Amino acid sequence: MEAAASEDCCVKVAVHIRPLIGDERLLGCKDCITVVPGKPQVQLGTHSFTFDHVYGSTGSASSAMFEECVAPLVDGLFQGYNATVLAYGQTGSGKTYTMGTGFKDGCQTGLVPQVMDALFSQIDSLKHQTDFQLHVSFIEILKEEVRDLLDPDSVNKSDTANGHAGKVAVPGKPPIQIRETSNGVITLAGSTERSVKTLREMADCLEQGSLSRATGSTNMNNQSSRSHAIFTITMEQMHKLNPASPGDGGLNDYMSEEYLCAKLHLVDLAGSERAKRTGSDGLRFKEGVHINKGLLALGNVISALGDEKKRKEGVHVPYRDSKLTRLLQDSLGGNSRTFMIACISPADINAEETLNTLKYANRAR
Ligand code: ADP
Ligand code: MG
Repeated sequence: MEAAASEDCCVKVAVHIRPLIGDERLLGCKDCITVVPGKPQVQLGTHSFTFDHVYGSTGSASSAMFEECVAPLVDGLFQGYNATVLAYGQTGSGKTYTMGTGFKDGCQTGLVPQVMDALFSQIDSLKHQTDFQLHVSFIEILKEEVRDLLDPDSVNKSDTANGHAGKVAVPGKPPIQIRETSNGVITLAGSTERSVKTLREMADCLEQGSLSRATGSTNMNNQSSRSHAIFTITMEQMHKLNPASPGDGGLNDYMSEEYLCAKLHLVDLAGSERAKRTGSDGLRFKEGVHINKGLLALGNVISALGDEKKRKEGVHVPYRDSKLTRLLQDSLGGNSRTFMIACISPADINAEETLNTLKYANRAR
C-alpha cells in the first residue's frame, strides 16, 4: 500500500529511529536500519515497510513530527474531535524521549511539551470569544489495574519485601473504574481530574505524574516501564454569545449549542518486548503477560479501525479485551484521530525486537 492511501484514514503511523546510544556503542553495535531516501520507508534485512512518515535522529525530527502528525490533532480538539497519540516500542527504544515526559534529557523537545505550547497559544488567541476549561488526568495501567499518578496517596508504596519497587493499592480506597455513559463517553470514576488554567499548571501535573510512574528493573533496562502511562487533557469550550458586551456571566450569555468538549490522550505504552526476554522471577513474567494483553488488544483494535474493508462491513472492534483499549475507546476510531509512533533502536542486537515493532506498526496502517 502506498503512503498516500491512508491520507484520510483516522490512524496515522510513523517510525522514529533513535541514534545508537552509549551501551550500544560500547558493545560495538552496527546500525541495521536503512531509510529509503525521500520515502517514508525503512528496511531491515530483507524486510521493507512503508509508513506515513519516518523520522530519524536529526535535531528537527521532533518538531517535524509535531507539525506533521500531532498539530492537526490539537487543532481537532478545538473542533470537538477526540484524539490519541501512542508511543510504541521496546524498552529503551525512545518512547519517553519522543513523548518528552522523561524530565531529563531535553524533554522540552518532545511531543507533549509542544502539544501544551500549541494548546495554550491557540487558547490565548481565542479567549476573547470563547471560555475554556481544561482538566488533566494522569493514570497508569499496570497488570490490568488503573492507578492514579496524580494522587500521592495511591502511589509510591513500594513492597520491598520481594525487592520489587512497585506500588500497592491503598487499603480502603476504591479502585479506579472505567465507565461508559449512555452516549458512549468513557469516564474514569475515582481518578483525579485536575483543573488547570495555565501552561505551568499543566506542566506541573505532567511532571508530578511522570515522577511517580512505576518503574521496575528488568535485565534489559533498569528504567524499564512495565505500565502504560496515559496523560489526558480534556478541553471544554463555551463560545461567548456577545463577546463585545460581556453579560452578567449567567447562562444566558452563552449559546448552548456552542458547547464543545474533547479530549486528547497522550500515551507512553509499556515496553513491547516479550515476557520471556524480561525473564527472572515469576512475578515479573506475569506482568509481562498482562502488558502484552493491552498491546495485543490495541494492535487488534487499531488494525480493525485501519482496515477500510472491515470498517465498511461493520466488523466488531474488540475494545473490551483490555483496560487500555476500553479506556481509549471513545478516542480511537469514530470521529477521533489516532497517531501511533513506533520507536526503534537502530542497533543490530535489537534487530529481532525492532522487526516485531515494525510488523506491529505495519499492521496498524
Ligand atoms: P523508552 O521510554 O522506550 O524505554 P527512552 O525514551 O527512555 O526509551 O530512551 C532510552 C535512551 O535513549 C535514553 O537515554 C534516551 O535519552 C535515549 N534516546 C531515545 N531517543 C533518542 C533520540 N531520538 N536522540 C537521542 N537520544 C535518544
Ligand atoms: Mg520510557
